[in-house]
Amino acid sequence: MKTVSKIVVIDKEKCIGCALCTKVCPVTAISKAEGSARYYEVDEKICSGCGFCVAQCSQKAIRVMKREQSVKVGIMNVEVTEEIKEICRKAHMYPEQMVCFCHLVQAKEIAAAILQGARSPEDISRLTGARTGCGVLCISGIIRLLRAAGIELTKAPGNQWYGMDVSIWNIPESIREKYPEYFLEEDLRLIKEYFPEGGEK
Ligand code: SF4
Ligand code: SF4
Repeated sequence: MKTVSKIVVIDKEKCIGCALCTKVCPVTAISKAEGSARYYEVDEKICSGCGFCVAQCSQKAIRVMKREQSVKVGIMNVEVTEEIKEICRKAHMYPEQMVCFCHLVQAKEIAAAILQGARSPEDISRLTGARTGCGVLCISGIIRLLRAAGIELTKAPGNQWYGMDVSIWNIPESIREKYPEYFLEEDLRLIKEYFPEGGEK
C-alpha cells in the first residue's frame, strides 16, 4: 500500500512531444493530450508521484507538486483465500512475504490484484503501488506471481524491463549436476523442506 502525496504536471509550453517520459512511467499515466498532435499530459488519477519521468525530460517540462489531498493506493486487509494461497504456492512464496520493500506490498496483495484482473506489472503497480519506489527490486517477484497465475508477459512497454532474477527453482537439473561444488541440489532439497507446498512450476 502506498500513500501518494505528490503528482507531476507537464508544462505544455515547454513540452516538445518527444514522449520519453511515457517510456518510463510504471503506471502508464502519461499520454498525448487530447486534441493535441504534440504535447503530453499526465492522468492525475493514476500518477503515483514516483518522479521517474522527471529525470527523462530534457526540456524540464515536468514539475513535481504536492497533491491537495494524498491518496492511498493498495488493496487493504487482504484475506488469504485458497486462490491466493495457490498463486503464492506456485510462485514459491509465502502470502505474507514482502515483494515491494519501498511500499510494503506483500505477495498476497499482488495475488489479490491478479484475481481482480491485473494482467501486467503496470496493472499491479496501479492497484498496489508496488514498483513505484526504487522501481527495481520487486519486478522479479511480481513476474513470478503473474506467471504462477498463468500470465505470460510479452515485451515491457517503452524503456522498461521485465527482468527476472535466476532462482534455485529455474536452474536446470543438468546445470545442478554439472557444478556439484555449488551444492545446488542440496540447496534445492533444503528449500523444498522449508517450502513443503512449493511444487515445481
Ligand atoms: S519528456 Fe518532456 S518534452 Fe518529452 S514528451 Fe515528456 S514532457 Fe514533453
Ligand atoms: S511521476 Fe511516476 S507515475 Fe507519475 S507520471 Fe511520472 S513516471 Fe508516471
